[in-house]
Amino acid sequence: MGAAGSNWAGNLDYSARMLAAPRSIPELQELIASAEPGSLKALGTRHSFNDVADTDGTAVSTASLQDGPAVAIDADRGVVAVASGVRYGELALELDAAGLALGNLASLPHISVGGAVATGTHGSGERNGSLAAAVAAVEFVDGRGEHVRLARGDAGFDGAVVSLGVLGITTRLELDVEPSFELAQHVYRELPLEALVAHFDEIVGAGYSVSVFSTWQREGVADQVWLKRRVDRDPAAPAELFGARPADAPQHPIPGVSAVHCTPQLGVPGPWFQRLPHFLLEFRPSNGDELQSEYLVPRARALDALAALRRLAPRIAPLLLVNEIREVAADALWLSGSFETDVVAFHFTWQPRQAEVDALLPAIEAELLPLGARPHWGKRFAADASALEGRYSHWRDFAELRAEHDPRGVFANAFTRRVLGG
Ligand SMILES: Cc1cc2nc3c(=O)[nH]c(=O)nc-3n(C[C@H](O)[C@H](O)[C@H](O)COP(=O)(O)OP(=O)(O)OC[C@H]3O[C@@H](n4cnc5c(N)ncnc54)[C@H](O)[C@@H]3O)c2cc1C
Repeated sequence: MGAAGSNWAGNLDYSARMLAAPRSIPELQELIASAEPGSLKALGTRHSFNDVADTDGTAVSTASLQDGPAVAIDADRGVVAVASGVRYGELALELDAAGLALGNLASLPHISVGGAVATGTHGSGERNGSLAAAVAAVEFVDGRGEHVRLARGDAGFDGAVVSLGVLGITTRLELDVEPSFELAQHVYRELPLEALVAHFDEIVGAGYSVSVFSTWQREGVADQVWLKRRVDRDPAAPAELFGARPADAPQHPIPGVSAVHCTPQLGVPGPWFQRLPHFLLEFRPSNGDELQSEYLVPRARALDALAALRRLAPRIAPLLLVNEIREVAADALWLSGSFETDVVAFHFTWQPRQAEVDALLPAIEAELLPLGARPHWGKRFAADASALEGRYSHWRDFAELRAEHDPRGVFANAFTRRVLGG
């Protein structure tokens, strides 16, 4: 195994020959200045399921970087400055202690801010943007060794947030914060798919954050709906959700798995950071042995995507642990899956059968890409640059931004050559 070990899912042994953990910005600048093209890549908390963070040169961790406090709250400006290697779960504790919150979180709090933002990671909620959409400023040392700061509104900022680590090594980010809030989480079981189709907008709009889970094992039924309701402003949870009934005990998204590592349910109110993620920070999240894929489909085509997946269900179900449907609001970030479009995200947690999963993905993409789908950059997908280019109207602008900040291609890797081209 290489110097950087393997990713969270264990499906990728990183090929890095060296692991660098620079302690200062000048040290990081020196590392970059002396690097060969294609020989450096930032590594976050290793939660991606593909080779986006891989390199056969040197993996760069920002965990030891001394560049000011790890978390610095500026309540007057409504932002928190955070070191890129900080995990959302750690950040949440500090924010909550100051009476503040982030607008949304992903399904697990274990991921680093720098890594999550770089791939466009998101949670759910029809009015909630991705985690990247909350970025107000980003600081990075680029491929020329320059320490760059871009804030919202600056030229290039919209390309520099979801950037797959190809512009440089992100050192700090500023994120929007808001006053702390409480949520109550309600799980409903056995939603008839016909009800989901007939009442899609009402169901995904039934709370602050809504996830629909399905194993596709039972024709005509989605297994669970997780409704996360803001107690300060959302209406009371309905006694029944279009035929789905409230669970009488905590549930795991994957039927039959213990809910002991899941965030509290049954409508018990609690702080935002203990309700927005599905999994608790203190425990190893999710099922462990799994792979993931996700496609973000323009909301206007969501029901077409659902119909296509129902047709494919006999091929999907045998490999699937669970499918999750979420919503992400539009943002302005060039490589974001929700760039200028409200989207519905169709997420697949797969059994760890990579060859079979990878063989099925082209069939899923043949249905979803014509609907305008964009893949999650950190999960497994088959599309290459030729299939992706037309889905991002700032593709060329991004290539120019990349050429400006990394003219020697220091941060290129096999993933970026395959997926971004060039
Ligand atoms: C159990 C599980 C649940 C998940 N749930 C969700 C979810 O709810 N929603 C969702 O959207 N995704 C989800 N994901 C996917 C995950 O959020 C993304 O893969 C995310 O990128 C992981 O962050 P990371 O810090 O582990 O990044 P890594 O996988 O380590 O790196 C990802 C990318 O970020 C870059 N990067 C990392 N740090 C830096 C830095 N300092 N500077 C520049 N570039 C950097 C890397 O070079 C690479 O390109 C989940 C993954 C797992 C394993």
